[in-house]
Amino acid sequence: MYNPKSAVAEEFINDQEILNTIEYAKENKNNVELIEKILEKASKMNGLEHREAAVLLECDDPRVLERIYALAKKIKERIYGRRIVLFAPLYLSNYCVNGCVYCPYHQKNTTICRKQLSQEEIVKEVRALQDMGHKRLALETGEDPQKCPIEYVLESIKTIYGIHHKNGAIRRVNVNIAATTVENYKKLRDAGIGTYILFQETYHKKTYEEFHPTGPKHNYAYHTEAMDRAMEAGIDDVGIGVLFGLYKYRYDFVGLLMHAEHLEAKFGVGPHTISIPRIRPADDIDVNEFPDAIVDSLFKKIVALVRIFAPYTGIIISTRESKKSRKEVLEIGVSQISGGSSTSVGGYDHKETANENSAQFEVDDNRTLDEIVNWLLELGYVPSFCTACYREGRTGDRFMRLAKSGQIVNVCQPNSLMTLKEYLLDYASVDTCEKGEMVIADELAHISNEKVKSLAEDYIDQLENGKRDFRF
Ligand code: SF4
Ligand code: SF4
Repeated sequence: MYNPKSAVAEEFINDQEILNTIEYAKENKNNVELIEKILEKASKMNGLEHREAAVLLECDDPRVLERIYALAKKIKERIYGRRIVLFAPLYLSNYCVNGCVYCPYHQKNTTICRKQLSQEEIVKEVRALQDMGHKRLALETGEDPQKCPIEYVLESIKTIYGIHHKNGAIRRVNVNIAATTVENYKKLRDAGIGTYILFQETYHKKTYEEFHPTGPKHNYAYHTEAMDRAMEAGIDDVGIGVLFGLYKYRYDFVGLLMHAEHLEAKFGVGPHTISIPRIRPADDIDVNEFPDAIVDSLFKKIVALVRIFAPYTGIIISTRESKKSRKEVLEIGVSQISGGSSTSVGGYDHKETANENSAQFEVDDNRTLDEIVNWLLELGYVPSFCTACYREGRTGDRFMRLAKSGQIVNVCQPNSLMTLKEYLLDYASVDTCEKGEMVIADELAHISNEKVKSLAEDYIDQLENGKRDFRF
């Protein structure tokens, strides 16, 4: 039976409820009165329920679609302004005991080059990332309890936080590792991680089991209940996501929203971020073998509806997406993107040759971080390297309260400008610098809280005089 508060995967991600929701959405896709009511509710920016979002997903009236995009854009601008947070993935190890059919790290793949970074190699990678200007990382590893135990991950986090190269520092390490025990999540919490990220891949149990035929990840319930264990362990910022294209998009869309509702119902705080990746080609992986892969227009609609469903949750897309696709979804919902990414183990310090390939997927957006920052500035966005909230203890419900009260803008806005200023001073090209300075001056002038504005101006002066790392 469907129960969003249950601790049992098949009760909070209930197959029958998902099927009923899809049916309900199909029956109501032309129900003008209901759709008006849903859009009216959505315009209040307090989110929707999964059934309501499913009706909007099903509706194919172009006028409704236009209103969905306009609303998603309005929510994005009201809550996030023009700020876009930047991060980079850091692959530590691609040894994996699982058999995920869509990932080239699967155990049986013998053509990929297997690598695991030593602590010395991590130092080189992180220095390379710091030299690009990154402050926020997402750690990625395959699952291999022998080769890549939790102790290795913890040691790596300690190494990363300890590296201060020139003016560089990694200030927030998010972690994307396999589902694990409460005990291990406590260790990650104590190591000072930012968000714990784990993608569900697909919520459809039978497909999940087929696509994960071997290894510990085969266990659907253990994987689906991972965020509950992370939250029990005191990690209050968790990031969920599905890999669109593995199963029918309607099913995974509803499952994703139900997962967010479950965390809210059970722990009083929903996911900190929702990632929206879709299947990409890679070594040993042919995307044509996935008939449920989604096209750009549908991807865009899904992003917009997730923004409307969960206005206060960060939406992340990676360099899997092309420049064109990224531009479109930035407008209507995405708040965090990766930039200058390598999906190889050791790929920042050392560019791999073809027979050294250790990449998890092909990157579609191959621009450098400076090119991405420049592009964002050109589009009128404020690239941000902010990591302030978790360092100030604003996590979980503290973060959500601040976000929902609207007060978050008083910290996000100056923090984005100060971290952009650091980037311009230490890493940017001349052209990016010129564009960035104009954006900073303009944004500073628009800070409405005089106290915040004056403090931000003072901090920016101090940055010019060589000081670093101010935050609100
Ligand atoms: Fe291993 Fe993760 Fe790839 Fe599966 S998706 S094969 S668990 S690295
Ligand atoms: Fe994110 Fe907090 Fe920084 Fe805003 S102030 S960008 S919410 S870390």
